[in-house]
Amino acid sequence: MNPLPSSLNLKALRRDLLSWYRASGRTLPWRQTQDPYAIWVSEIMLQQTQVKTVMPYYERWLQAFPTIADLAAADQQQVLKVWQGLGYYARARNLHRAAQAIVQEFKGEFPVNLSDVLSLPGIGRTTAGGILSAAFNQPLPILDGNVKRVLARLTALTLPPSKALNALWQLSTELLDSQNPHDFNQALMDLGATVCTPKNPSCPICPWQSHCQAFHLNQQTQIPMSENRSPLAHKQIGVAVIWNQERQILIDRRRQEGLLGGLWEFPGGKIEPGETVEDCIKREIREELGIEIAVGDRLMTLDHAYTHFRVTLNVHHCQYLSGEPQAIECDEVRWVTLAELDQFPFPAANVQIIEALKTGQP
Ligand code: SF4
Repeated sequence: MNPLPSSLNLKALRRDLLSWYRASGRTLPWRQTQDPYAIWVSEIMLQQTQVKTVMPYYERWLQAFPTIADLAAADQQQVLKVWQGLGYYARARNLHRAAQAIVQEFKGEFPVNLSDVLSLPGIGRTTAGGILSAAFNQPLPILDGNVKRVLARLTALTLPPSKALNALWQLSTELLDSQNPHDFNQALMDLGATVCTPKNPSCPICPWQSHCQAFHLNQQTQIPMSENRSPLAHKQIGVAVIWNQERQILIDRRRQEGLLGGLWEFPGGKIEPGETVEDCIKREIREELGIEIAVGDRLMTLDHAYTHFRVTLNVHHCQYLSGEPQAIECDEVRWVTLAELDQFPFPAANVQIIEALKTGQP
C-alpha cells in the first residue's frame, strides 16, 4: 500500500518552493561552481554535518586537493589529516578511493552517467542525485535526512520514514521540477535545513504551509514518526598516554578496516566487567603493544557519541617500563613528541586529549 496521499498539487508545490528559493535560498560556495568534483566533495562533507561546520573544511580540502587527480595521487594519511575533525572518516577514505577509481576508469573526469556514479565508493542514490542535478542539471531526485523529514510532514506520513522509503523516493521523483532540477533539489535541501527543521519548524514562513498536511493537523512536532531505536550502547574505555624517559608519547595507527580506520590514537581499550580503569589500561597495553607500563594520574574523562554507541574515555598518564612496542592489534606504533602530535590525523575525542596535554588542563 502506498502510504502517501495522491491529493498533492505538484505544480503549485514546485512553484511555491522555487519562488521561495529565489528569494530566500542560501548562498553557498558549492553553489557558485559547476565543477562536479567540488560539488561531490561538498555533498560528502554535508552528509551528517552542518553547513557552518563544513565551510572551512570545504575550502581547505580544495586548496589541498584542487582536482580529482590531486586527490587520487595523495597519501591516505594526508587525506585523513585534512579531514581531521569532520568525523565519519569512512567518507574521506571513500572520497580518496573514488578519486583513484575515476582516474583509472574514467580518465580523471567525474562520470555523468548515474550507474557509473553509483559504482564509486561512498556514493549512494541520494548523493548521486545531488551531484548530477547540481553539476549537470540532470532530473534526478534526492532523499537525504532533511528531505525525508520535509516529505513526511508534507504528507503527514503515518510511518517512520525508514518504513516508507519507496513511497518517499516516488514522491521526491514526482515532485522534482524536470525543467529545473538543480534549483528544485537545492531548494528542497534549504527548506529542510532552514525552515522545516527537526525541532520547532518555522511553519509561519514556510512556502509549503498551505499544502502541508502535518501543519493542518498540527502534528509538525510528532512527524516524522520515531524509528523506535534502542538506546545507544555505552562503552567505558581506558586510554593510556604513555611517556618514556625522553618525554615522548606512544601512539598507534588503527587498522584500515572498521571505525576510524587509518587514524592515529592513544592506545587503550574496553574496560571489562569488574575491572578497574588501571587494570584495564595495563592489560590492553600488554595485549595490544606487548609492553609493560605503570599507570599514573588521571588526565581527563571525556564522553563522545558515535552513530551507534557512546564512549567514555578514562585517560591516564602512564610511564613506560619495559618491552619493545609492537603493532599487535594495530598497523603501526610510534614514539612522538607532544609538538609532533599535530602532524598525525586523530579522531575528535583524541584531539581533545592532545589539547589537554598541551595546555596542561583537562
Ligand atoms: S508547514 Fe511546517 S511542517 Fe510543514 S513543511 Fe513547512 S515547515 Fe515543515
